[in-house]
Amino acid sequence: MNIVVQKFGGTSVRNLECQRQVMQKVLRSHREGNKVIVVLSAMSGETNRLLALADEWSDTPDAAEVDSMVSTGEQVSCALFAMLLKKQGIHCRSVLGFQAPIRTDSAFGKARITDINTRHLLEMLEEYDILVMAGFQGADENNRITTLGRGGSDTSAVALAAAVDADVCEIYTDVPGVFTTDPNMCDDARKIERIAYDEMLEMASMGAKVLQIRSVEFAKKYNVTVHVRSTFSDELGTIVTQEDETMESVLVSGIAYDKDQAQITLVHVQDKPGVSAQIFSPLAEKKILVDMIVQNPSKDGKTDMTFTVPRADVEQTIKTLEALQYEIGFEKLTSNLNVSKISIIGVGMRNHSGVASLAFQALADENINILMISTSEIKVTCLIDDKYTELAVRTLHKAFHLEEAETIDQS
Ligand code: ADP
Ligand code: ASP
Ligand code: MG
Repeated sequence: MNIVVQKFGGTSVRNLECQRQVMQKVLRSHREGNKVIVVLSAMSGETNRLLALADEWSDTPDAAEVDSMVSTGEQVSCALFAMLLKKQGIHCRSVLGFQAPIRTDSAFGKARITDINTRHLLEMLEEYDILVMAGFQGADENNRITTLGRGGSDTSAVALAAAVDADVCEIYTDVPGVFTTDPNMCDDARKIERIAYDEMLEMASMGAKVLQIRSVEFAKKYNVTVHVRSTFSDELGTIVTQEDETMESVLVSGIAYDKDQAQITLVHVQDKPGVSAQIFSPLAEKKILVDMIVQNPSKDGKTDMTFTVPRADVEQTIKTLEALQYEIGFEKLTSNLNVSKISIIGVGMRNHSGVASLAFQALADENINILMISTSEIKVTCLIDDKYTELAVRTLHKAFHLEEAETIDQS
């Protein structure tokens, strides 16, 4: 049995006309002799609408009930799409997370997939030509509905592709592939033909929301080839796959930005062994993702500790740390929400120096102040004032000549 997974995002299913275009892609694959698992998102705007309802109803909405409600967006898309297919005489059905079932842990709002019932899926695929499956959702061991975090339908699709050993996992979206930077922010952005899992992972982690981070983790772990492409054209998109030599010859592959960040500073923390653990362990327990961390040089046994967290987690971070103020021993906590993270990413950086200094100079030339810096083997990240995000992205894109297919100067 040849199985193909095709995932369509919110803009691709937003109305009847778009769903008809989606149907053409699905039917083509079906006519080519494939069994198709179609994974759908909620119609664009629907997830936000539902989340706003929860906030209207309660200051502290129960996380399990929020998931139960917000998962309905995908349920609607799937049922409607299955109606369209059935009108064409296709033998298909809609399948929700708990019906597959897609098992997850119980971290409501950011659940992780723990198991997919492959045997049941294959049985359904024997019976039906096309399964229309809800992205973004699963069920925990108590059969409570869970959701996988924003953009989670990508992860549903890749995990399903891995579970049934699909020939390909196609992620259809509103842009024709993965670009050197967000094409909606920079007109010079260029489509990348092939990108390594690790690079895509860094791009996604650093804010390129074209793929959810966990979908790339899954793809890498289970060696699923992902094809990111447009719902609204037939051109080939971007293949996300294992690293090969040609990829290493590219110094910088892309620039990502993340505006959903906040900077927290603990002023005058006691500089003694164990203090970092005292600060960051309680945050880790609450599953708050701390990214950049800088500790200032110590003066009179005291230091300032600055770090970044997702903006959505700021309140919880402040609450958690202020409750421990006496234990940790800091003077005060300050937060800055007007920051954004700009990252330069490329596997070619592993063997080449000078990327960071070129980036710093380019930002300096535009008078953009860098608040924090962090680096990894294949990435340089700068935290800046968020009002300069667009300028910084364009400046760096230009500085690394990303509008042209760039190769390392071997001289
Ligand atoms: P979908 O609803 O199909 O899942 P998303 O909005 O989640 O679509 O992701 C697609 C969007 O990702 C694009 O419209 C684009 O603005 C944004 N994006 C950010 N960085 C990139 C990038 N490097 N390449 C392509 N798209 C990007
Ligand atoms: N509908 C969900 C969201 O908007 C999941 C997805 O589209 O991938 O985040
Ligand atoms: Mg998405």
